[in-house]
Amino acid sequence: LKPEQLAKGGSEYNEQCALFSWAALSKQIYPQLELLFAIKNEEKSGSAIVGSRFKASGVKRGVADVFLSVPRNGYHGLYIEMKASKGKLSKEQIIFGDKVREQGYGWVCCYSWESAKNIIIQYLTS
Ligand SMILES: [Mg+2]
Repeated sequence: LKPEQLAKGGSEYNEQCALFSWAALSKQIYPQLELLFAIKNEEKSGSAIVGSRFKASGVKRGVADVFLSVPRNGYHGLYIEMKASKGKLSKEQIIFGDKVREQGYGWVCCYSWESAKNIIIQYLTS
């Protein structure tokens, strides 16, 4: 499916799927997109058992959704927190962003796959 089709639902999940669809289609132009990946972070699993299993294996609240493992412009890599258009950052997400910035990483919050796409292109090409 094309990114535009995947994004139709408008959820954060839809936007993130659209971003990765775009990335798959754009690897010829930007080979570094091979190093773009999603991070499993804490979300509502609907089950305390599943939640505690995730936590035990190192899954953490506040960790960004996506990481581009490519150093550019003085940054070690770029974290992207994805949100639906009306999403809000949690306290933990803001703290995570501050901490990774302190360590020399880029961190951005994007409210659509297009905005994430534009930031990635800008990051890779400047
Ligand atoms: Mg998110």
